[in-house]
Amino acid sequence: MPSCAALNCTSRSDSQRPLFCFPLSDRKRLRQWVGNLRRRNWTPNKNSRLCALHFEEGCFTVNYGRKRLTSTAVPTIFNLSMLYKSRSTQEKSRNAQVICLWWLEDMRVDLCW
Ligand SMILES: [Zn+2]
Repeated sequence: MPSCAALNCTSRSDSQRPLFCFPLSDRKRLRQWVGNLRRRNWTPNKNSRLCALHFEEGCFTVNYGRKRLTSTAVPTIFNLSMLYKSRSTQEKSRNAQVICLWWLEDMRVDLCW
């Protein structure tokens, strides 16, 4: 079942939000999509999807009652704050490790005595 390719987005095709295919045949726009997505070492394929959450209202047209993307639509709305938060958590755990090493060194000093 396809799900949204955006980081920290849990939209799936069974949810109320429509999912859209990547513009694989439009290289210029595809580069913009992937660039805005900010996923490292990732390339979309024909099964990759993005949900409607990442597009501004002006990116849509309604065709036969279904939401569709315009031919120039580029996703611009991504929840990158989550990404930064997880980075700072990693940073914190690294600091904790350093403190742990210092503590071990102190212990070693104590043992030498
Ligand atoms: Zn999404």
